[in-house]
Amino acid sequence: MITVKNLYKSFGLLQVLKGINCHISPQEVVCIIGPSGSGKSTLLRCVNQLETPDSGTVTIDGIELTSPHTDINKVRQQVGMVFQHFNLFPHRTTLENITMAPVIIKKTDKAEAARIARELLRKVGLFDKDDVYPAQLSGGQKQRVAIARSLAMQPKVMLFDEPTSALDPEMVGEVLEVMKDLAREGMTMMVVTHEMGFAREVGQRVLFMDEGLIVEENSPQQIFENPTNSRTKAFLSKVL
Ligand code: ADP
Ligand code: MG
Repeated sequence: MITVKNLYKSFGLLQVLKGINCHISPQEVVCIIGPSGSGKSTLLRCVNQLETPDSGTVTIDGIELTSPHTDINKVRQQVGMVFQHFNLFPHRTTLENITMAPVIIKKTDKAEAARIARELLRKVGLFDKDDVYPAQLSGGQKQRVAIARSLAMQPKVMLFDEPTSALDPEMVGEVLEVMKDLAREGMTMMVVTHEMGFAREVGQRVLFMDEGLIVEENSPQQIFENPTNSRTKAFLSKVL
């Protein structure tokens, strides 16, 4: 579903991605772990072309996003992304936040978009919050709205960049539950996370990144119980 080949990205003199290769199968949940600054966010941002890689290719469901012939706005609609900070529109209600992109970009009929939005709100456990503004929601609720908003575009894959890192601890669980449901329904997901419990339970594969490279990848059980790379070992000994 997602293939990344030989991806390089620098910001000025700083080389952030140094030849990333990975392949994610349909319905697979891959968690990406690694120290701060190792290039995890840049990798996700290159996957949905929020950043333009210097070289290498990203292919999603057979369409090469990095090709100059690809209509990037069209393909990007198929890639949902959820950030650490929810980036909801503050002056729009929850329902409006969710219906905006389908109505404006996909030209979905307003009533139909609202119907789908209500369904998604129910799915993330917020069916009664359609009419409130983001400021009236807790962090966990905002993040669940952000997930619903991404899903409204009916993406083929979902990218999560530390979706629970900005949350108070008591709200982490409710967001992870929504993500687990999505995984169970078969969504293909790339998840950058510090939640090792989630990676272990839900991830089918874990990629460990350090200094712009995937230095180890394996099943969660292998990575957490029997890491082979010394840098993976050092990282895990600090976070576990
Ligand atoms: P991670 O998500 O693993 O913490 P990032 O991908 O955010 O790492 O960042 C990797 C490195 O690239 C960091 O040193 C960061 O400061 C740098 N970086 C990220 N984005 C930019 C940018 N837009 N301009 C300049 N430097 C950046
Ligand atoms: Mg990051």
